[in-house]
Amino acid sequence: MFSKLLIANRGEIACRIIASARRLGIKTVAVYSDADAEALHVTQADEAWHIGPASAAESYLRIERLIDVAKSSGAEAVHPGYGFLSENAAFAEACAAADLVFVGPPADAIRAMGSKSEAKAIMARASVPLVPGYHDADQDAERLAEEAAAIGFPVLIKASAGGGGKGMRVVERPEDFGAALEGAQREAAGAFGDERVLIEKYLTRPRHVEVQVFADRAGNVVHLFERDCSLQRRHQKVVEEAPAPALDPKIRDAMGEAAVTAARAIGYVGAGTVEFIFEDDAFYFMEMNTRLQVEHPVTEVITGFDLVEWQLRVAAGERLPVDQKEIRARGHAFEVRLYAENPARDFLPATGRLHHLLFPQETPGLRIDSGVRSGDDISPYYDPMIAKLIVWGEDRESALRRLRAALHQTEVAGVATNLPLLQAIAAHPAFAAAQVDTGFIQRHAHELLAPPAVERQDLLALAALAEVERRRAETAASAKASPDPSSPWWGCDGWRLNADTHRDLHFQLDDDTFAVTVRYLPGGLEIEAEGARLPASVMAVDDGRLLVELAGRRINLRPVWRGADLTLLWEGKAHRLLLLDPQAQVDRGEGASAKVIAPMPGRLVQVKVVEGQEVTRGETLLVLEAMKMEHSLPAPADGRVAAIHFREGEQVEEGVELVSFVAATESSTA
Ligand code: ADP
Repeated sequence: MFSKLLIANRGEIACRIIASARRLGIKTVAVYSDADAEALHVTQADEAWHIGPASAAESYLRIERLIDVAKSSGAEAVHPGYGFLSENAAFAEACAAADLVFVGPPADAIRAMGSKSEAKAIMARASVPLVPGYHDADQDAERLAEEAAAIGFPVLIKASAGGGGKGMRVVERPEDFGAALEGAQREAAGAFGDERVLIEKYLTRPRHVEVQVFADRAGNVVHLFERDCSLQRRHQKVVEEAPAPALDPKIRDAMGEAAVTAARAIGYVGAGTVEFIFEDDAFYFMEMNTRLQVEHPVTEVITGFDLVEWQLRVAAGERLPVDQKEIRARGHAFEVRLYAENPARDFLPATGRLHHLLFPQETPGLRIDSGVRSGDDISPYYDPMIAKLIVWGEDRESALRRLRAALHQTEVAGVATNLPLLQAIAAHPAFAAAQVDTGFIQRHAHELLAPPAVERQDLLALAALAEVERRRAETAASAKASPDPSSPWWGCDGWRLNADTHRDLHFQLDDDTFAVTVRYLPGGLEIEAEGARLPASVMAVDDGRLLVELAGRRINLRPVWRGADLTLLWEGKAHRLLLLDPQAQVDRGEGASAKVIAPMPGRLVQVKVVEGQEVTRGETLLVLEAMKMEHSLPAPADGRVAAIHFREGEQVEEGVELVSFVAATESSTA
């Protein structure tokens, strides 16, 4: 076994690998960009080396620099994690050339599976079933359109070099094919530097079921059962589970065998995943990922094996520790991916500081894999995943119960997250009944994406109580620091002789302003909000949590303040409010629809309108590329484009005005 391992990655997967290496007595070397100087993986490794500026192209993707660091630090092996260089054959070769062991498959296997088209050709030869489609070299647009027609609509265009759902387009009608092809090619060229595509029959209600395989250099190949990753948003996995629910044991066996055949067909070594699409009891090869997958923990949890340990052992030349018949699955596991993204903005990745991040305690049934902690930033440079929550139970039902509890106890403030969506999925009866397919989230969107149903008056009252408590704590702190701490002037219950004992507060919530009055009465507080008068008191404060009583109900909550910005963490939900300074209210909220703002930092790839053009609401004005995905920015209303402030190809910051816009009602009165 090696004595020192370099991890060419960051975030949760770097931390995950460090944990296994440490257990095996292997020293770890982390690498970091400017943006990650204080990141968790850096503090957890035995040593850490700076590799460049924040952008991945100048840091985590710099092969030479990584090899340099590996050599200088005395590492003998390199683990690429997932993403970044994990499926880069040139990196695997560069490691070998520098006498470093690449913890992954041979470069040939990476190359063969790196192109979805080539992978399909190889699998066809090995008699692994394929989705009907076209994956030849000829990329002539007319030819592609003909092939699409021959396959029959709807079809799916995929980037040959694709991954992460990028460069994928579903096309329902022949007349939309040309535009979809262009978009897919542009996205593919941008993300992978390769605009080639393939076309598949688009299955309308499929499941995504993938098989974990493992091979050693002695030619042993095993599978570790399947994972169902059907719960997806825009072809990106959101929830994964193992085993796949309601899968016929015969099909399960056939899939395992097909996956092993696929791995053998390319002389595979190490950890790999063979992805199948599954519909009407038939399964078809989609692609093979030649690395450790994000969702590998569900397999670890049901089999009891540490897959990173296996990877390291196989890379060091050892044989697989067990054979197929010794691999058994026990119980059921779920993984959910907690992302910094904004459900209110169509799940655009969100950036910002995690002012507060708290997970429930890990137990044998709950594992948290995360690469960030409270106070860290979610930057625009990398994947916005905050953590993976992995639960285990004796059966699906008990695992699901644990999942619900864990999600309920997860607290995030500072950045918007998909936590409400994850909670809604875990609570959905159709999910509990295992009625899963890749259309699940979209089909149930109206229920899954509904804003939390809370009484506004309660929310406002709780916000007011949080403010009362904040004032009290501040006053108490000042009193403690003063020369006369017992002076009655430090009284903080708001009670003043002969004074009008109330405070008027204004909160902004969902773009509206609300007045709340707090009255300090001899017996406690009374809060007036939304026409209701509610008796209230703050009963206890414990480590940032408040226990309050509101209209006879005891409520546990955590307020997280950032200046005037308040996040109320209450019953598993995060509610954001702004405490308004009455002085600073002039001009607020006006003209919001008259601007098109960059929702996130990115590059403007297309400007579809010209200055002076009349547009209708919803029409695409600009296309912004961020996080390697394209996002269309629509006209906020019917109206006229007054000015465009950036040109195609320009980089823009989050929050800048891209287009000045005159809504139709305004222009007609002008
Ligand atoms: P990527 O490598 O970009 O993640 P995949 O080929 O793995 O792309 O496909 C991602 C997801 O897209 C799948 O999990 C599935 O939900 C959906 N998908 C892929 N191929 C098809 C198809 N032929 N029909 C319907 N859905 C598909």
